[in-house]
Amino acid sequence: MRVFNFSAGPGVLPLEVLEKAQKELVEYGTSGMSVMEMSHRSKPYEAIIGETEARLRKLMDIPDNYSVLFLQGGASLQFAMVPLNLFRKSNTADYMETGQFASKALKEAKKFGEVRVVASSKADTYSYIPKITKEDVNPEADYFYICANNTIYGTKFNVFPDTGDVPLVADMSSCILSEKVDVSQFGLIFAGAQKNLGPAGVTLVIIRNDLLGFAKENVPTMLDYKVMVENDSMYNTPPTYGIYMLKLMFEWIEAKGGVEVLEKINREKAALLYDFLDQSKLFKGTAVKEDRSMMNVTFVTGDADLDAKFVKEATAAGFVNLKGHRSVGGMRASIYNAMPVEGIQKLVEFMKKFEAEN
Ligand code: PMP
Repeated sequence: MRVFNFSAGPGVLPLEVLEKAQKELVEYGTSGMSVMEMSHRSKPYEAIIGETEARLRKLMDIPDNYSVLFLQGGASLQFAMVPLNLFRKSNTADYMETGQFASKALKEAKKFGEVRVVASSKADTYSYIPKITKEDVNPEADYFYICANNTIYGTKFNVFPDTGDVPLVADMSSCILSEKVDVSQFGLIFAGAQKNLGPAGVTLVIIRNDLLGFAKENVPTMLDYKVMVENDSMYNTPPTYGIYMLKLMFEWIEAKGGVEVLEKINREKAALLYDFLDQSKLFKGTAVKEDRSMMNVTFVTGDADLDAKFVKEATAAGFVNLKGHRSVGGMRASIYNAMPVEGIQKLVEFMKKFEAEN
């Protein structure tokens, strides 16, 4: 029996997608083989990767002056690739420190240039997104970096900073395709796949073409975006099966009605849980209301033993992976695109029952 999986990632995938993959596992179309067994240079595989990109371009309305890459190394490798490729004039970058992943990213960038922390919510356990204005942006910075959705703390940028001519770089690992974004606002977007895109092993990068070609001579070939763009993500063997899974995910999103429809459902899903938390006498949301994430809902009872009891009983009832990140404790319900409304309705019912009993 499949459980309701609230994992922060790798996270829940749609049953329809898994079943389609199962159906095509042994033989893809009339190719006579599994996608896993195909040469990445073969006709059928070229069609798969081409279609994956085309579907994403349509779903996100990606303008023609942006390239789409399917890379490896996880979102964490982007913490290094971004500075290695985007430091190009002043060798300085602005970072917003809104959580552990933003913090890791800025530490990595410091190895390659000068990093300025524009604002940080670290002192308040990253429970909010600091508000900044255009005046806070260094106009000389080579780029301005944000983590759009902070998976561990349950916060998100509900308004992206206006950085003027300074390219905005966003880690969208835990919110990509959850709501409509205007890609043209960004110089670069990246996302590890294992939340809203598919299985772990693929990293999506969307980069504006004028930012290509600045990697210094000593940057490893595999870490140069330009090389990857020139080779259509196939300088070496790409994560072929993972990319195929992205294709199935994009087909599923399209069949649902696209990102606008998902966004509407995601808003309803998040509201179900937050509305309950706001009136509960036992549970309390930990993120500042106006910065609440639509994908990762963090909450506590205020008593660590009771939190543990809740997680244990929820698991037994079929609501799994609700334990908060090890660095913050409490609970976290990750409600990615593939989590059905029913999962949240049932979780809220369960929480009501737990509240009445405790
Ligand atoms: N950024 C964010 C926002 C994340 O949630 C994560 C964790 N999946 C990462 C970066 C690191 O991703 P990866 O494990 O793919 O390196």
